[in-house]
Amino acid sequence: MTTSHVVFLPFMAYGHMIPMADMAVLFASRGLKTTILTTSSTAHRLAKSIRKTAGFTHQIALHTIDFKTEEPGIENPDQVVSKDHLSRFFEALSTLQEPFERFIETTQPNCIVADMFFPWTTETASKFGIPRVVFNGSGFFQLCVSDAVTRYRPNVSSDSEPFIVPHLPHEIKLTRKQLPQFEGEEFKVFLKVIILSMEAEAKSYGVIFNSFYELEPEYVRHYREVMKRKAWHIGPVSLYSKTIEEKVERGKKSSIDEHECLKWLDSKPTGSVVYVSFGSIVKVTNAQLYEISMGLEACVSNFIWVIRDGQESSMPEGFEARMEAEGRGLIIKGWAPQVLILDHDSVGGFVTHCGWNSVLEGVSGGVAMVAWPVMAEQFYNAKLVTDVLRIGVSIGDVEWSADSACEGVKREVIERAVERVMSVKEGGDMRMRTRKLQVKAKTAVEKGGSSYSDLTTFIENIKTFKQ
Ligand code: UDP
Repeated sequence: MTTSHVVFLPFMAYGHMIPMADMAVLFASRGLKTTILTTSSTAHRLAKSIRKTAGFTHQIALHTIDFKTEEPGIENPDQVVSKDHLSRFFEALSTLQEPFERFIETTQPNCIVADMFFPWTTETASKFGIPRVVFNGSGFFQLCVSDAVTRYRPNVSSDSEPFIVPHLPHEIKLTRKQLPQFEGEEFKVFLKVIILSMEAEAKSYGVIFNSFYELEPEYVRHYREVMKRKAWHIGPVSLYSKTIEEKVERGKKSSIDEHECLKWLDSKPTGSVVYVSFGSIVKVTNAQLYEISMGLEACVSNFIWVIRDGQESSMPEGFEARMEAEGRGLIIKGWAPQVLILDHDSVGGFVTHCGWNSVLEGVSGGVAMVAWPVMAEQFYNAKLVTDVLRIGVSIGDVEWSADSACEGVKREVIERAVERVMSVKEGGDMRMRTRKLQVKAKTAVEKGGSSYSDLTTFIENIKTFKQ
């Protein structure tokens, strides 16, 4: 039988493109022919991550297609500056359809793995008689909870009154202010893409997950058996980055030399460092940045904190110099080698916005987490961390932000939450639970493990696919 060819179409946000590039590497490692089709700037960002396929039978092919935006040069959501701009960005995504279809017609691959933000790929796949598989960038728990919330709108009298999400394996309590609110003209286009993507997902061949069975078994089953969707779990895909080089170059060049970072971490006792990061999209307001500085300074833990380049001017006077002089804090301005940091023994805690990749990378690193969700599906992921897996504590009463803004949490609250996850007893118990999951994650991706086997099933499924 000829080798199957899978074409990947990643969405151009880091939280989506990094795991999809990992996925392509994984597929190539199993002997499949793989092509990533993307815009030129995303191709540039991914080039390093996929170099590791050099020794494989089939290297990953990176093929660029034109993205016709009104703002030339703006090809990635992190470059978008306003909600209006975001609308135009999402509107422009459909301009990829024509060059994408031309490529599919010419190359006739066996399968399309396309991000949820390209709902039209389901139609493309059906036109060419091949399966379209969706990648959402999230886990099973999140999809199950958001499906239940959409079906059974909560009947509560205020935005802060808790309600139980019905028909789920666990008692999950949320409030309305923790749910995504895409109201108003500025979200019209985005909402349309979301609705189309949900419809396309239901009609597509299935969904591929960066997750592993042992992390959320009840939700894997719920998704397959109750929601009746075809699904494969093949993660955590970050675990396929094994060397220092592979762990460092993920999506963007790190703003710190990896050896300098490792030297700093090596000098700290096991489990003594808390890593603080809010991912690639969330914006920490200047006032919040100040409160985090004060909170971290009040704690006894060492810390590595990733901030946006230039934001250091909002920190308290002399803060950075004091932390450096005491050897307590390392501030990374720009992009951190996150997987390298989380995998280091000296890191015991993680203050995270609960982006799905960060949650998985935290689990794979065996750390306890402070769940501080801000936007997107992060509030659901936070519930998995705190209430289901019990590997983290909640930062407390924060609400979903339409501006992706992290704000409003006082220094004492931050100090208390960090102290809890870094403590010997409460934090130690959480770390013990995460480490059990860490072992299961590593086993899942090894030959015979649940993720390895599900990928085998996936490969068989696409080989035998009949429309
Ligand atoms: N990331 C990184 N360095 C940074 C910030 C983020 O390597 O300084 C990576 C992180 O490891 C993860 C991805 O970018 O793989 C962010 O995805 P996530 O789902 O956690 O959050 P998002 O950025 O989508 O909100």
